[in-house]
Amino acid sequence: MIKILIVEDEKPIADLLDMSLTAAGYRCECLHDGMAAARALEENRYDLVLLDVMLPGVDGFALMEWLAPTDTPAIFITARGAVSDRIKGLKLGADDYIVKPFEIAELLARVESVLRRCHKTDSRLTLDDVVVDTQSHTVTKGGVPVSLTAKEYSLLLLFLQNKNAALFRETIYERVWGGDFMGDSRTVDLHVQRLRKKLDWGDRITAVYKVGYRLEVEE
Ligand code: CA
Repeated sequence: MIKILIVEDEKPIADLLDMSLTAAGYRCECLHDGMAAARALEENRYDLVLLDVMLPGVDGFALMEWLAPTDTPAIFITARGAVSDRIKGLKLGADDYIVKPFEIAELLARVESVLRRCHKTDSRLTLDDVVVDTQSHTVTKGGVPVSLTAKEYSLLLLFLQNKNAALFRETIYERVWGGDFMGDSRTVDLHVQRLRKKLDWGDRITAVYKVGYRLEVEE
């Protein structure tokens, strides 16, 4: 999942950004001052940072110093009319800017376009040495292609999108086979067994008593 850091000291604006981007399927973290943002940038990896210019502590421009070495794209949030801010931001290496007050649709469009430009779109899912490319529908393990049936592929996606969640056999059946579960748990069990074998994920995909299965991932 794409992870976005929002650095904005005006709480209502930060909340609005958080809500809109979360609803659009991004994972967001909000910080309200520059120092906290600088620390977070040292400790964590983000796919994109939304950066307000005027911040307590370290301002948005200065934060570019922390950002630049990480190669993380940034979008500045600037006040209306502050043209010099926008130019300075872009010169410092920001990928785009949004002017307050902004429309949600514009925000989402700019975020999407920067992520696309920086190849941060969510087309690859990985775990261990397994890489799933959701655009080409291919799976590799240790760089070697793994041949999966359509159902096994859907099952793998379902697990990767629900890491550490105990998935009921009924849910798995409905999501992968797309019909009502008629108590045919053998179909689910068989496919899980095959997927485990093909990916050597005997320890990863575990049985959950009376429920179904879970993909175990250390966070
Ligand atoms: Ca501000």
